[in-house]
Amino acid sequence: MTLTIDEMAAFCKRKGFVYPSSELYGGLAGLYDYGPYGTELKNNIKSLWWNYHVQSREDIVGIDGSIISHQGIWKASGHLDAFSDPMAICTKCKHKDRIDTLIEEKTNLPTDGLSMKELNELVKEHKIVCPHCKGAFQELQDFNLMFPVQVGADTSSKGTAYLRGETAQLIFTNFKLVAENSRLKLPFGIAQMGKAFRNEISPRNFLFRLREFEQMDIEYFIHPKQKCPFLKEVENCTLQVYTAEDQEKKKKPTFLTVQKILSKKIMTDWHAYWLAYEHEWFTKLNVNPKNLRVRQHLKKEKSHYALDTWDLEYNFPFGWKEVEGIANRTDYDLKAHSKHSKKDLSIFDEQTKEKIIPHVVAEPSLGVDRSFLIFLLDAFHDDKKRGNILLKLHPRLAPVKAAIFPLVSNKEELTKKARTVYTILKDSVPCTYDKGGSIGRRYARQDELGTPYCITIDFDSLKDDTVTIRERDSTDQKRIKISELKPFILDKLS
Ligand SMILES: [Zn+2]
Repeated sequence: MTLTIDEMAAFCKRKGFVYPSSELYGGLAGLYDYGPYGTELKNNIKSLWWNYHVQSREDIVGIDGSIISHQGIWKASGHLDAFSDPMAICTKCKHKDRIDTLIEEKTNLPTDGLSMKELNELVKEHKIVCPHCKGAFQELQDFNLMFPVQVGADTSSKGTAYLRGETAQLIFTNFKLVAENSRLKLPFGIAQMGKAFRNEISPRNFLFRLREFEQMDIEYFIHPKQKCPFLKEVENCTLQVYTAEDQEKKKKPTFLTVQKILSKKIMTDWHAYWLAYEHEWFTKLNVNPKNLRVRQHLKKEKSHYALDTWDLEYNFPFGWKEVEGIANRTDYDLKAHSKHSKKDLSIFDEQTKEKIIPHVVAEPSLGVDRSFLIFLLDAFHDDKKRGNILLKLHPRLAPVKAAIFPLVSNKEELTKKARTVYTILKDSVPCTYDKGGSIGRRYARQDELGTPYCITIDFDSLKDDTVTIRERDSTDQKRIKISELKPFILDKLS
């Protein structure tokens, strides 16, 4: 991929997808605002995710928890004690940076799960210095990533609450109520979409690492002995698999079907199912499967709660990076909340007739902003022949579905007819009316926004009520009756 992340950020600003936040006042790192087209794309991503993961499934329901949340939640979850990044401070210019990222950039070694001591050793061994002044770093420190907020008039530490560091914890604290209200039987999932906050030391790579971001999260609960009943749905799905063993032996990843993965016992049935299910969500929305892989965590990368973790990764301009992690969190979180709140969070399992605390077998959790970046990167084509950027976004993701043009702007009969077509479509098809500039210029403008259909009203339209419809990727054009336009486009979007 030749496009850099900075070029993508510049493109997003120029076309009205994403702006650096607070830029009028000099900006704030790690915060972005979505512009008119970015907002539409983002909303489409969210509604497609919700439909695929919640509405079309019998076993998953949704919640929408509050953003400001009780300190007790974050004490129990371990966030207040251990949700931190290793910070390096320059001895000369006092610049503060995230050391694991600096090490990864310099050495290409994964640093997840390394202790402070190991990181300190790596800094010395690889002579990692301040990126600004080349000064040496002080001994590393932990930096907590939670954002405290003061709630109400109580200014003591009792009044301190936190912006949620992840959406997951609100699922655990509501777990028992949701399980009862929705009369779900194991296995089942609870989903949530919404903002989360991390006070990153040095946010970077545009939408990849943010201080304020949005998550699309599922916690999937099972009886620990339960097998995955959905394997049939994904058994023919092919994944690019990178096992810990392959990584250690410096081998390349291999393409395997889920059936093969299971027969070779590379991962558990639940891991295979969720990785394939998530992989499909991206590929069904036009992401190239070559840019996706599933990578097993090396032993030292594993989180304190996880038995085995696999990441779905994407080939970003700055390397293969995590899109989402599929970890078995066991009963760690529900047990922790049960202990700290002194409330019983166990439920009755119909099948085994036991009262149990279910296990979270997988946590298919995606960043909305990260997904947004992936869809744009994958759709982005610098089309030299056309002389403009072409965004090959899936029609369902495209911010604008159709653009309506009068052939020329100075003939009233044409503009009037074009406005009529626009009025017919606008209630059911997000569309735009554009009469500015040459037709070629107007096509280029829509190509750059990823608009799948351009509709031109010409002099023949006045006689026979037909228009020209141009398809974005092939540039094929055909005549179609105005009365057939709406069903034609809606059919392509379904
Ligand atoms: Zn420095």
